[in-house]
Amino acid sequence: MAVSSYIGRFAPSPTGPLHKGSLLAALASFLDARANGGQWLLRIDDLDPPREIPGAADRILRQLDEHGLHWDGPVLYQSTRLPAYKEALQQLSCAGLLYACYCNRARLRTLGGRYDGKCRIHNLHASATIHDKPHATRIQLPEQSTVTFKDVIQGPLLFDLNKAGDFILWRRDQLSAYQLACSLDDDHQGISHVIRGSDLLDSTPRQIHLSHCLALETPQYGHIPVLSNAEGQKLSKQNHAPELSSDKTTSNLIDCLGLLGFSIPSELSNSSNQQLLNWAIDHWQLSNVPVLRRVTESDSP
Ligand code: GLU
Repeated sequence: MAVSSYIGRFAPSPTGPLHKGSLLAALASFLDARANGGQWLLRIDDLDPPREIPGAADRILRQLDEHGLHWDGPVLYQSTRLPAYKEALQQLSCAGLLYACYCNRARLRTLGGRYDGKCRIHNLHASATIHDKPHATRIQLPEQSTVTFKDVIQGPLLFDLNKAGDFILWRRDQLSAYQLACSLDDDHQGISHVIRGSDLLDSTPRQIHLSHCLALETPQYGHIPVLSNAEGQKLSKQNHAPELSSDKTTSNLIDCLGLLGFSIPSELSNSSNQQLLNWAIDHWQLSNVPVLRRVTESDSP
């Protein structure tokens, strides 16, 4: 059998243990990788210490194992990758693509989600930049910044990056922004396919743009529906999504398989996690995954 060049990944942030919404994303990326004879890598996005919960990364690793989602090779921790992020930032700076942004939160809040480029103009005209004052670093987008890509689940998509304006690559608190770290690490890990939740759909064109600026390989992307609660909010640690229960791993998997478009035959209802996963790998079809941006638990048959 030919060796597959497919490399997928799951990249949780250790801001708490996994809940059902994160299991859905883990499972979709796992099944797509395994059904394609590919590798499935695990990256812990521990980029943001103020938001992290001590012990959460180890808990996530245990939860994946308990559900039979075994990854390949060593886990990559983003906290070990800071030098690479700084080097890429330097490269973009030398290319004249970055500027310092001194806008505070209060000002950004008044802009309604679109950065107006105030500091871009200021930086271009100032004779010297006041680098000692706390600032974030933004990438300067070209005038024409339409990004198109074919999402393997949602179909062809088109985004105008300028709608949200120049985005942050390096934060005011001296941490790498998610967009920069994610583009660099997907390239570093040789990721060919990123299957993740639709909540990250707005990030994808930014990451594609960055990978072009840095001459990185661009993976294929697929966005699955995000699991929401009955009020329509995405399940998350912020809105108290319950931690995945360790004694219900099989029913957790069955629920998530239902949300990914599977009809599970009744003879599998007493199967082990491994048998269920093997069956799902054999029957995985991207075209069965709902093209919705959101689902609720009651959508699982
Ligand atoms: N770490 C990000 C999160 O948990 C996801 C990163 C990704 O899949 O690109 O939301």
